[in-house]
Amino acid sequence: MRGALGGPRVLLRRLREVMAEPVSAQERLDKIVVLIAANMVAEVCSVYVLRMDSTLELYATEGLNREAVHLTVMRSDEGLVGLVAREAKSVNLSEAHAHPSYSYRPETGEEIYHSFLGVPILRARNTLGVLVVQNRASRSYSEEEEEALQTTAMVLAEMIASGELAALAKPGAEPAVHPRIHVTGTALSEGIALGHAVLHEPRVVVKNFIADDAQKELKRLDDAIGTLRADVDTMLERGEVSDGGEHREILEAYRMFAHDRGWLDRMREAVMTGLTAEAGVERVQSDTRAKMMRQTDPYIRERLHDLDDLANRLMRQLMGVEHAPKKDQLPDNAILIARSMGPAALLDYDRKKLRGLILEEGGATSHVAIVARALGIAAVGDIENASGVIDPNDAIIVDGTTGDVYVRPPVDIENAYAERVRLRASRQAQYQQLRDKPCITKDGETITLLINAGLLVDLPHIAETGAEGIGLFRTELQFMLATNFPRISEQLSLYRSVLDAANGKPVTFRTLDVGGDKILPYMRAMEEENPALGWRAIRLGLDRPGLMRSQIRALLRASAGRKLKIMFPMVAVTSEFDQAKALVEHELTYLRRHAHALPDQVEVGAMVEVPSLLFQLDELFPKVDFLSVGSNDLVQFMYAADRGNRLVAERFDSISAPVLRALRLIARKSREHNKPVTLCGEMASKPIGALALTAIGYRSMSLTPSAIGPVKAMLLDLDAAKAAAAIGPLLDHQEEGITVRERIEAFAAEEGLTL
Ligand code: PEP
Ligand code: MG
Repeated sequence: MRGALGGPRVLLRRLREVMAEPVSAQERLDKIVVLIAANMVAEVCSVYVLRMDSTLELYATEGLNREAVHLTVMRSDEGLVGLVAREAKSVNLSEAHAHPSYSYRPETGEEIYHSFLGVPILRARNTLGVLVVQNRASRSYSEEEEEALQTTAMVLAEMIASGELAALAKPGAEPAVHPRIHVTGTALSEGIALGHAVLHEPRVVVKNFIADDAQKELKRLDDAIGTLRADVDTMLERGEVSDGGEHREILEAYRMFAHDRGWLDRMREAVMTGLTAEAGVERVQSDTRAKMMRQTDPYIRERLHDLDDLANRLMRQLMGVEHAPKKDQLPDNAILIARSMGPAALLDYDRKKLRGLILEEGGATSHVAIVARALGIAAVGDIENASGVIDPNDAIIVDGTTGDVYVRPPVDIENAYAERVRLRASRQAQYQQLRDKPCITKDGETITLLINAGLLVDLPHIAETGAEGIGLFRTELQFMLATNFPRISEQLSLYRSVLDAANGKPVTFRTLDVGGDKILPYMRAMEEENPALGWRAIRLGLDRPGLMRSQIRALLRASAGRKLKIMFPMVAVTSEFDQAKALVEHELTYLRRHAHALPDQVEVGAMVEVPSLLFQLDELFPKVDFLSVGSNDLVQFMYAADRGNRLVAERFDSISAPVLRALRLIARKSREHNKPVTLCGEMASKPIGALALTAIGYRSMSLTPSAIGPVKAMLLDLDAAKAAAAIGPLLDHQEEGITVRERIEAFAAEEGLTL
């Protein structure tokens, strides 16, 4: 049924007139509700605004008791209005009283109305309020009427967002346009950052909703869609990864949606009701978003996200806004906000101005998290709807240690964090003073501290930390960041730069550790049921020896006239090591035959990451020049707990008897066989881990660069023999009622060590 006053087009035109009138905000709202009620032949039209304190306040009504305006305030979990706000979804009922959420407010006098249609007032992905129409008769509102009301709600959203209604609010009960937000996500990269938001994918705010000429708007929409399709095709053709780091799957989804008739028709229909092209896109987009918020199937949710991103692209296209912020014109202290991001995209930003990163997705092992850590910027992932609720330039705090994110924080929180930043800086200054001090424990044990690295941006860390070299160079990072297989010359050039930066300090290169969760975007990934246990690392290397040989050749050539240390990841049986070592010999022979300059010395080692090696140490040690323990993988396989799965990754403690017993065995065997062992997993990067490792016999560890300071400070205060005496027995006799971690913490407290 169409409204008596001529349907949505007329309503929009009249709304535009009301918006332009020089009247007070309250008068404008009052006129709007009268207009909507008349247009929809409804006896009631009311506007409820969501307040900072999460309640919904009646701001205007036609039909209900006017005395109730600004007096009726409901919790957002109360009544049908609360339901609309909470679920960000329309509620259309012919018998409102019969709904379980119905709650009756006597001051409004609404008991006589049977039918109810409520739509959320949405902006970006935020609910700002609820718009309701009611009728005395028991009737159901048509789909068209529902859509017309949703369109009107967009105009109201802009009115609320513009701040016009703030003058009508009581202090502390302002509309929740820019609410303070505190959420906790997954800590991805340590550090604290205070700064201002920059949206990686700029969001467009539509201000001009109502069109003069529907045909002109339809043409604008069609033209923009043409450009959008062409852009997506180019992105797909250009390679499998676009500028934004989107992977092929996403681009394919973009292409599918860009040609989806249903989507296009819905946008065209919205424009035909009298909206501008951009408002038409937003109108349909808010339906997508509402669906996305309710969707529990992760795959469908992902695709809805893709559609949302595509709609944003279309909107930027229509409004002539750049698709990405100017990466070299960031504000100082920029905090980047993105749904997800490829590592290359992050590296494009001006490092000097970037302080933090907030992602809607992204596990700790994601590539972008690795790059964030290498760059030393605080990062938090799993912040749902971050790019929807955060506006450009909002004040933000990112706590990459706890995973906390504050948007528009209150002053006391901001002050507390600023203090912590100062404290960290002064601690850093103290660590800096230890930089050139040899790492020798109180009782004279020398501990070699090395760093983990993998990117060019890591190299300055050697000098900054005073580390004695690179204990683990993850060569796969270069491959993971590239858009195509890095050529041998590119590999060679990186390895040379690494050795140059190390300036004679040892560097242990690990051969390609890909497969599992380390995916190369340009290499077709195999469907594997258990990728962590699948075709990865040395397994892939031995099955594709061409790949491994070219890498080994690049490493050998880069090390001409210097020492090369090379190690293989994920060795499970000694014969794999033999085969890999044979490839090194083969390449050496080849280079010698072709009169290439050779390394002065080549050492070949294996990583201990697969538990089966624990029972082959006596066979393995004689074959290798050194071993390196990858505790991240070793622990995940010992406990059968996926290191990338939040539900289980923290479930089992690595500072525990089973893990430390295994690690102690390796250290003992290393002494027996007189071959060096280093531990290069994350465990060594925590002072408590380094303490436990020293106690069980490790004298060489490779750390995340930022951990060198705190670990070294702890080791300088440590009596290693005392630690061995206190901790060793804990592993032999597991005590009831107290964990090994707690005992080690107690020891550290007695000894005055800072963990
Ligand atoms: C490990 O597994 O501990 C390790 C150092 O390798 P990565 O973290 O790269 O798998
Ligand atoms: Mg590993």
